[in-house]
Amino acid sequence: MKMGMVIDLEKCIGCRSCMVACKQHNAQPPQTWWNRVFTPGSHRHLTPPAKGVEFFLPVHCQHCENAPCEKVCPVGATYHAEDGAVLIDYERCIGCRYCMSACPYGVRQFNWEDPAKAHQRSEYQEQYHYGYPEDHRHEGRLVYMPLRPKGIVEKCTFCAQYRDKGELPACVRGCPGKARFVGDLDDPASEVSTMMKGRNAFTLLPEKGTKPTVFYLPPKAKEV
Ligand code: SF4
Ligand code: SF4
Repeated sequence: MKMGMVIDLEKCIGCRSCMVACKQHNAQPPQTWWNRVFTPGSHRHLTPPAKGVEFFLPVHCQHCENAPCEKVCPVGATYHAEDGAVLIDYERCIGCRYCMSACPYGVRQFNWEDPAKAHQRSEYQEQYHYGYPEDHRHEGRLVYMPLRPKGIVEKCTFCAQYRDKGELPACVRGCPGKARFVGDLDDPASEVSTMMKGRNAFTLLPEKGTKPTVFYLPPKAKEV
């Protein structure tokens, strides 16, 4: 199996519900966003719109097959799970941030917050309580904690804690435009494989050689 995601840019309306669902379900601290939606014209819009085509661009970890973050991690904390998702083992991460420098997509975030201290501040209490409430192990490794320690790096896991229960990632469930899909890229009959047929699916920054497993379907040209 090769886990992957397809995002249909024709259907993305830029509402940022996926950002909020991701943040809430994964208990991200203040200032941290694992998943962001960029507006056309933003310098973070990694694929400039072609003439006559403008689209919002959701970007989170691209779960690269050839992941530079994994290669530079000195303690083996970042690794490929058996299904191909790139995960971080919080029991190993030492917060050196080499992976943040290596990732060309800028999706990794450093946790500056001590959750115990943040917990005591009333305005943050709820933010540290929402989300999936329990620590979660995937293949024996600690890949999700609602109260993550200060000084670790974190990012999208394709919602490992939900997928292991047979549920879809939070962003997929939270998208009102039904623009996001996950599935097995190795299965030619899967929904994600079928959707990409005939749609000129593309990946972000292909020149970096990272081989992302997040694919985007281009929107149709419109008069702008
Ligand atoms: Fe690593 Fe960045 Fe690729 Fe995610 S997008 S696998 S963090 S290099
Ligand atoms: Fe966030 Fe989960 Fe979607 Fe990744 S798959 S962007 S962690 S909601």
